[in-house]
Amino acid sequence: MTTPPLILGDFQIYWLNGGDFRLDGGTMFGAVPKVLWQKKCEADAANSILLVNDVLLVRTPEHNIIIDTGLGNRLTEKELSIFRVTSPWAVPADLADLGLARDDIDLVLLTHCDFDHAGGIVMENDDGKDALTFPQALHYVQKTEWADVEHPCRRAQSTYWPANFDLLKKEGQLKIIDGDLEVYPGVKLRHTGGHTRGHQLVELFSQGETAVHLGDLFPTHAHTNPLWIMSYDNFPLEVIDRKEEYFSHYRNLDSWFTFYHDPLIKACKLGGQGDISRTWPPSQHR
Ligand SMILES: [Zn+2]
Repeated sequence: MTTPPLILGDFQIYWLNGGDFRLDGGTMFGAVPKVLWQKKCEADAANSILLVNDVLLVRTPEHNIIIDTGLGNRLTEKELSIFRVTSPWAVPADLADLGLARDDIDLVLLTHCDFDHAGGIVMENDDGKDALTFPQALHYVQKTEWADVEHPCRRAQSTYWPANFDLLKKEGQLKIIDGDLEVYPGVKLRHTGGHTRGHQLVELFSQGETAVHLGDLFPTHAHTNPLWIMSYDNFPLEVIDRKEEYFSHYRNLDSWFTFYHDPLIKACKLGGQGDISRTWPPSQHR
């Protein structure tokens, strides 16, 4: 964890190391030609680009909240090689650096349940046994997302891994919600759909300041054009509509947009033309 926390009123937002991996560059930009996206994102000879899986920790005066959980520590050698994992998941160590234990996390908000966001719900302990990473936390998931976890379509079967959810259900730490909900004053979940049917965003508000986590609707700062969307999106036209709607709404609130997959920029603000007007950390502004 190297990025300093972003202070949002009484809240602090940290980015924890949920594991880095490399994906095919083309899949992250859908129909956008490589000659355009490679100006924003460097690809290697195999056409892969570096992505991080940053687990957000939001500290409020009363809660320690995790947004998405990273790759986890249970990937097999084969999976580590397929997904070209270049840096391991280190969430418990990053928490310890902040003086926090896994038991100190009381809310986990899941934007959706793809393995790169849900892989850290369960972890392998030192004794080799699987356990909930955050055993005291209620884990919030949209109802439609959970329905797809339990009965994945053919395409989702390769990305919703039962091992990430079985224990959560068994131990009663799952909270299924239907639509929008303020889970705590200043912490709101809003159902978005688009990337997956039950994808949701997290809105944070404290002392007049706003930040929004759009999850995989806005995975990196290279995706500021609403038409630049991922091949992984299940409902692409919905993603474009939602991005236009949320960009306009949250830009008017002078909101931060926080990222999960961006290796360089952890958050940004958008200007009137949809350009990036500020970044976090500030040194990344170009
Ligand atoms: Zn993702």
